[in-house]
Amino acid sequence: MKTEILCVGTELLVGDIVNTNAQYISEKLTNIGIDLYYQTTVGDNFQRMKECLKIAFNRVDLVITTGGLGPTMDDITKEVVADYFGEKLEVIEKYYKKLENRFIERGFGTDLGTGAEKEASIIKNSRLLENEMGMAPGFFFEKNGKRIIVLPGPPNELTWMVDNQVLPLLKEYSDDILLMKTLEIKGVPEGRIDDRLKNYFEMSNPTVAPYAKEGCVHVRVAMKGSRNNIEDINNEIDRIINEIKEIYPQAVEI
Ligand code: ATP
Repeated sequence: MKTEILCVGTELLVGDIVNTNAQYISEKLTNIGIDLYYQTTVGDNFQRMKECLKIAFNRVDLVITTGGLGPTMDDITKEVVADYFGEKLEVIEKYYKKLENRFIERGFGTDLGTGAEKEASIIKNSRLLENEMGMAPGFFFEKNGKRIIVLPGPPNELTWMVDNQVLPLLKEYSDDILLMKTLEIKGVPEGRIDDRLKNYFEMSNPTVAPYAKEGCVHVRVAMKGSRNNIEDINNEIDRIINEIKEIYPQAVEI
């Protein structure tokens, strides 16, 4: 499943915060063999975010958004997604109650204002993704072969939801897994490694890729396949690893 992460938030663009959400999602998705093709960041702007969705759905099957689910005017993610798909938002009662309880606990009374309905809503006919760490629910929506997962911005909420809601959901759609091993090769310039391992670098599954490091080169062998075939995948990776070790006897697995 070709995937793009779309991070929403002007504070990301202007360098106020580091985009740890994108890194977390990328790592977790890669581990389960999802093809992560793009990461995009956009500010809190309705038209620009809608443009990003259009571009994303022209090139991937699944978009995962983070941020912009709060109660204020500049939280636009759900509204843009609803507009893009021509759908309506609906309040999730449980999340509205949660907000109400929090208001009462904090002595703010029971007038929640319009922001609460906004924060507690998701797209009609989407699948609720629970947010046990915060107030804004996430959701998964699918239409005409386009799939979107919408997640909140605060990293503690995001990481909990990825682990407990998103990964189980994605495993329903794909039983793929990506396994990898890395060799560290010292004493050879990267360019020469290219010459000798050229045929390996052109392979597609497993893939073999060099990464220049301080004083050495890392060569990563990665293979995707079915979760039911872990042994075969490992055997194939080991076969390639051993061949490269024959070419470079100083190579060590790290
Ligand atoms: P809230 O309900 O708190 O408004 P939200 O879903 O609207 O959450 P944002 O308002 O976009 O999310 O972000 C809330 C906070 O989460 C930001 O101030 C920032 O500290 C953090 N955050 C947002 N996006 C990211 C990101 N991509 N990486 C790391 N931190 C982020």
